[in-house]
Amino acid sequence: MPYADLTKEELMELKKSLKAEYKAMQAKDLKLDMSRGKPSQEQLDISMGLMDVLSSDADLMSENGSDCRNYGVLDGIPEAKELMGDMMEVPADNLIIYGNSSLNVMYDCISRSYTHGVMGSTPWCKLDKVKFLCIVPGYDRHFAITEYFGFENVCIPMLESGPDMDMIEELVQNDDSIKGIWCVPKYSNPTGNSYSDEVVRRFARLKPAAKDFRIYWDNAYTIHHLYDLDQDHLIEILAECKRAGNPDLVYKFASTSKVTFPGSGIAALATSHNNLEDIKKQLKMQTIGHDKVNQLRHVRYFKDIHGMVEHMKKHANSLRPKFEMVLDTLESELGGLGIASWTKPKGGYFISFDTMDGCAKEVVSKCKKAGVVLTGAGATFPGGNDPHDKNIRIAPSFPPVGDLEMAAKLLCLCTKMAAVDKLLG
Ligand code: PLP
Repeated sequence: MPYADLTKEELMELKKSLKAEYKAMQAKDLKLDMSRGKPSQEQLDISMGLMDVLSSDADLMSENGSDCRNYGVLDGIPEAKELMGDMMEVPADNLIIYGNSSLNVMYDCISRSYTHGVMGSTPWCKLDKVKFLCIVPGYDRHFAITEYFGFENVCIPMLESGPDMDMIEELVQNDDSIKGIWCVPKYSNPTGNSYSDEVVRRFARLKPAAKDFRIYWDNAYTIHHLYDLDQDHLIEILAECKRAGNPDLVYKFASTSKVTFPGSGIAALATSHNNLEDIKKQLKMQTIGHDKVNQLRHVRYFKDIHGMVEHMKKHANSLRPKFEMVLDTLESELGGLGIASWTKPKGGYFISFDTMDGCAKEVVSKCKKAGVVLTGAGATFPGGNDPHDKNIRIAPSFPPVGDLEMAAKLLCLCTKMAAVDKLLG
């Protein structure tokens, strides 16, 4: 029965029994961390073959004749561009291969625009006001970058099939201090949903007042499906921008962080030739070249995109039972109670969970006191400020499935306790 239909006496009774359950949970002495979307040890083991493909007698020459052990090749070896291009669904010559982190590339793009502008425009540091659009709930580290540079982060609500495009169109058309938008278009962090065709088409047809406005299209979960058949597929944004007569509108990012090893993978940026030229002016001052041995290692390991796709199925086999465990627990414990809602992703690393308004902080704190660390409430909003205090990001990947069941049960229990308190006033 929905909690809202319970009488005060029934709620008081419920409060007592939930408290007893919570005490029993605390006695289990749990120590679980579900705070960040890290691959589990089992998932890291999937990629250990990466360590075997290059030995001391390996030929480390790239296809283009350059020795991967030496300096040079600013934008990445051709075979790595081919592989990452296929992963990102763009031609290899629209790519720069970077180092070990796509977040680092995003930071660089903001930093370069701040100090040197975008394709000849006024550097953002010389402007009185710079605003960035942030789709919420979203990825805390995106918001942290633009906050760090002193920009005003403007929240845009995430809807079922992507962000509120009416709002985005209206804002970017009329305000030239808006310089960009953070997007996770596929299996979004944290909602797990993907942008519809209409949303992608509308993005490609934006008419920003600012010529130096760029869409930061973070395709972190581009091949990270949970199911073989039931997968999300998006219109490719670079091609769509070109079709729409807006070829320079987007920077697209990806990495192999959650394909091989986070922090030891390869990252890439895909964008128009005009943007690439602009970016390389800075890049050549920043470095002589990135880690080509690691680029070569990844290519030799996967061989091609088919190798990568097969590899991702192994990740899916590890992640799927965890997602299903959490979703089944949420449904069996909270379904029909009217005190929480959650997303049901088909890929990516997260489930987005909403408590009743004003309860998320309390739920996260109660979980922590019983040994389960969740991502801080509010983390999915700029400045850590969830105006409704209801969103919690669930990251099921890291703990073993058995532990996860306990953690999910605890989350449900704490959600019930907070809801009862709220209803009792
Ligand atoms: N982008 C999103 C949306 C993420 O969720 C993450 C990690 O969780 C990253 C980027 C980090 O990527 P990288 O390891 O390539 O810096």
